[in-house]
Amino acid sequence: MLPANMVPIAPSAPPAPPARPAPPAPAPRAQLIHIETDRRLGHEWDEWDGRALPNAGDFSAPPRLYFAFAGVTIAVVAGVLAGLLYLVLPRLGAVWAPLPTVLWLALAMGTGLVAAWYLLLLASFYSGVNLLPDRLLERGPFLRLMSYTSLVSRPFGRRDRVEHAAIDVYNTLQVRRGRKMGKGELLILIPRCLSKQSLDGVLEIAGRYEVPVFVATRGQLARRVIRERRPRAVVAVACERDMMTGLRDAAGKLPILGLTMRLPSGPCRDASLDLAKMEEWVRGWVTP
Ligand code: SF4
Repeated sequence: MLPANMVPIAPSAPPAPPARPAPPAPAPRAQLIHIETDRRLGHEWDEWDGRALPNAGDFSAPPRLYFAFAGVTIAVVAGVLAGLLYLVLPRLGAVWAPLPTVLWLALAMGTGLVAAWYLLLLASFYSGVNLLPDRLLERGPFLRLMSYTSLVSRPFGRRDRVEHAAIDVYNTLQVRRGRKMGKGELLILIPRCLSKQSLDGVLEIAGRYEVPVFVATRGQLARRVIRERRPRAVVAVACERDMMTGLRDAAGKLPILGLTMRLPSGPCRDASLDLAKMEEWVRGWVTP
């Protein structure tokens, strides 16, 4: 006879299947606003000849490459201005005799100031301490120098690598500011060319930290999203060429961290990115 608190199991009844643990709740995913996956080239890649990009579209480069080209750029600009002065000064001297001396002095002082700023930039980057406020460093003159440096690097065929190094320097200085903000105050902007895997990863991060994510098919749309959503900061994803334009246009107005991509299938399609870096940046900005 069985104890009163036990129920007999009929021998013919099949054993009950073991209780399965409840499936884990799916990770929250952010809502995707818009996506296009065609190979419409961004205008920055108009001259692409269809051949595979060097190093499978990975333009990683050490910061010293940027600093070297930035130094050359400052020297080139000073040289061009000096050449122009040399050509026009005889005429200006005929108008007012001391004018050539005044202009030479002004050029020498301007070049000296730029050189001093450049040394402060170098010292800030390598010392780990930003020695100037952001408006005088990465969100100020740096953006202009970055654009001129890109122009100077093009004849050497180093454009993408120099731009990558410049963006890395900019990001390093920007991250050190240690900004904090609410989740709704941050925005993630991604391009239309991400691979499916990368896109899924971005949406997962955006969902985890409850940060809105937008696909900006053109720089103009990116600017419109920023104007309408009025975020306090942006984590933007783009290739080096597009990122340079975006930073030059918008980083002076609000803090932006720019995550560049790898382009293994050529420009404007199936781009991949460093998701761990993106999460680190998002977490750093929205975690109190
Ligand atoms: S971000 Fe993507 S779509 Fe835009 S220009 Fe660069 S590679 Fe092309």
